[in-house]
Amino acid sequence: MRIKDFLNASDASIHRQTKWIKRFLETYWVVIALHLAAQLFSYFFLPYEIEAGAFYYKVLAGPTLLMGGTVAAAQLVDRYAARYSFISMFTAGTFVSMVIIHLNMDVRIIGAVMLLPIMASAIFFRLDLTMYTAALQIAAFCILYNWDYRFKAFLNPFDLVSIPLFILVGTLVAGIIIVNGRELLHDLETTMTAKQDLMAENALILKISRTDALTGLFNHMSFHEFYEKALEYGELGVPFHLALLDIDNFKGVNDKFGHRAGDLVLSRVAYTIQENIPSTDIAARYGGEEFAVLLFEPTFEEALGLMERVRTAFSETRHAELGGLAVTVSIGLKSFEKGMTKERLFEDTDALLYAAKRAGRNKVITPLQKVDEGSVAL
Ligand code: GH3
Ligand code: MG
Ligand code: MG
Repeated sequence: MRIKDFLNASDASIHRQTKWIKRFLETYWVVIALHLAAQLFSYFFLPYEIEAGAFYYKVLAGPTLLMGGTVAAAQLVDRYAARYSFISMFTAGTFVSMVIIHLNMDVRIIGAVMLLPIMASAIFFRLDLTMYTAALQIAAFCILYNWDYRFKAFLNPFDLVSIPLFILVGTLVAGIIIVNGRELLHDLETTMTAKQDLMAENALILKISRTDALTGLFNHMSFHEFYEKALEYGELGVPFHLALLDIDNFKGVNDKFGHRAGDLVLSRVAYTIQENIPSTDIAARYGGEEFAVLLFEPTFEEALGLMERVRTAFSETRHAELGGLAVTVSIGLKSFEKGMTKERLFEDTDALLYAAKRAGRNKVITPLQKVDEGSVAL
């Protein structure tokens, strides 16, 4: 991996990493505070052979200032030169562990402190970072061994083998965690992508199953779902109206101009319906050249106004495929009244539609006109 890539992690992980770098740097302060507390505790409660002045300056103040200064510097780097955050963070961490080892070299397992930065680096799931941190620990160990004569004197030949081995095994374990974590992350991403694809596919299938391919309106099946919902709300007092539309003499259109021209007219008719009703109303292609509309206007007069507008729009739309002729529609319209069954409202409206046909087509017929004409009362 090139140094540039090392410095610039992938965009996707940057946010997570920034958060963790901040947390790490804060944890360093906790480590410094804990170390200070442990030293004070040892000084006051354990046999600690050191002169008070030496203890306060050489063990407490000096090292604490040194460690604190390093962590503060790393926090400044993180704030003003974020691209070097990783390097400064792990270098500061290594330096803190070096100071702790130097001060506590007589504690047998103190060398294990060097494992901590390595394990910590595993959180970022980057092998290169862990390798860098492991190299830092080896360098820190060599520095301490060569310059810290007390540390050197305290180590026996067995420690000289076991400490570097500790670092090596720690790096190996961190590496295994990283590789496993990455595989897990990869599997998770694959599952998520598959799930998203499936959701998109489902949405598409749902849309296809609910709409009519030629006109784009809702199909017969989904009309019934909406119709049943409308009846439920109707019973609760929400007004709605049912309109059934049938294109006049459409068989003649097909016979004269061909099925293809008929299809074009059908899709244009659907568009005209949709254009003239509010988007909250439901228009469906109920059958071949028959359409059903659920109108949620508050009053019957408004619904009638909309249907008259649709009817007029048809009679005024001239179709090039039909040699400039317009097609007309007949419409039956009836409002829902509480207690009405699904079948009753539909059959009544259908009867009104056929009354419109009988009355000469290109008309909107409602129960009012039907009664006026003296036909069977609905
Ligand atoms: P009316 O005014 O009484 O409704 O007469 P009509 O000719 O419209 O009624 P009829 O029920 O006799 O004929 C309906 C025609 O609609 C027959 C059929 O060919 C046509 N049709 C139905 N579905 C489609 C379609 O998807 N595409 C085309 N082009 N024509 C269709
Ligand atoms: Mg018909
Ligand atoms: Mg017809």
